[in-house]
Formats: sequence, structure tokens, C-alpha cells
Amino acid sequence: MKWLIIIFLIPTLLFSQIPSKEDDEYDFSYMLEEMENDKNFVDTYDLKGMINYFIEDCKKHSISIPNKMTIDATLTELAKGTIAHALGMEDDSIIHIEIDPDQWHKAQIEKRWYILYHELGHDFLNLRHGEGGKMMYNIIERNYTWYDFVRDKETMFKIVKREPYSYEY
Ligand SMILES: [Zn+2]
Repeated sequence: MKWLIIIFLIPTLLFSQIPSKEDDEYDFSYMLEEMENDKNFVDTYDLKGMINYFIEDCKKHSISIPNKMTIDATLTELAKGTIAHALGMEDDSIIHIEIDPDQWHKAQIEKRWYILYHELGHDFLNLRHGEGGKMMYNIIERNYTWYDFVRDKETMFKIVKREPYSYEY
């Protein structure tokens, strides 16, 4: 009987050591694949198309979208180091983003998507710096990978969905 207990105990102990998918190394490869095959994944000079993609992404994450929305994406010269800027914060019926054409053009594609999601995090999700995980942090990296983009946007949506119902400490 003693041996039987030990035999049953060992596999349980072994399997309990395997981290669950909730832990930090989540596999985003299926999302990256989905993104690559997505015909709605527009080019980064179609600013309204990019914003529409973000709105669809919000819908996929069950974030409520107002019935009527004004979308305004304008090109304008911004201060050095500011590639984009959100102006429609706190008003969910308006998305107003300003983009510096020169700095946008110089940024890599992954970074353009990352920055747009950051600005829409302010504008549409009403997040401030420090809310919404790394994507809403106030320091912009020199470059991003698609993995960074997917991981950080998923974290941002997860945090938005979490609040204000419960807090994890
Ligand atoms: Zn910001």
C-alpha cells in the first residue's frame, strides 16, 4: 500500500512543476500567424484602416464600442521624439490621433503598430502611462518585434478587462 501511494504521488508532483499557460511565457505564435493571414491587417500608411483594426481587436476582446464614433487621424509636425499623439482621451465617441509624417515614415512597421496601439490606449481605452502594462509605459523602445506587439497588446486588453471588477496583487 505504501508503494502504491508513492507511485501515484510521483507523477502528481512532476506534473505540478509544469508551468501553466497563464505564466509569463505564453505562446502567441497562433496570434502572429492569424495576424499575418489577416487581410484586414492594413498597411501603416492607411491610418484609419489601422484604427479600424484596433476597434475590431477591441470587439474581439469584448470591449464595448459606442454605436457612433468620429475617427480623425491627421498628419502634423510634432515635437522631436513624439511620433504620435492622442487628443480624444476621456471621450469615447471621438478618436483623434495626430501623427508626425516624418518620424512615422522613419519608424519600423512593428513600431508604428505599437505606437498606434499606445495612443489608442490613451484615446479609446482612457489609459494613462503606467496603466495597461508595458504598452502604456511612457518609454518607447528603439525597435519592437511582432512578438512584443502581440504580447503587450494582449496584456493591455487583459488589464482593461480586469478593471474595475477585481484587482490582482
Ligand atoms: Zn503616451
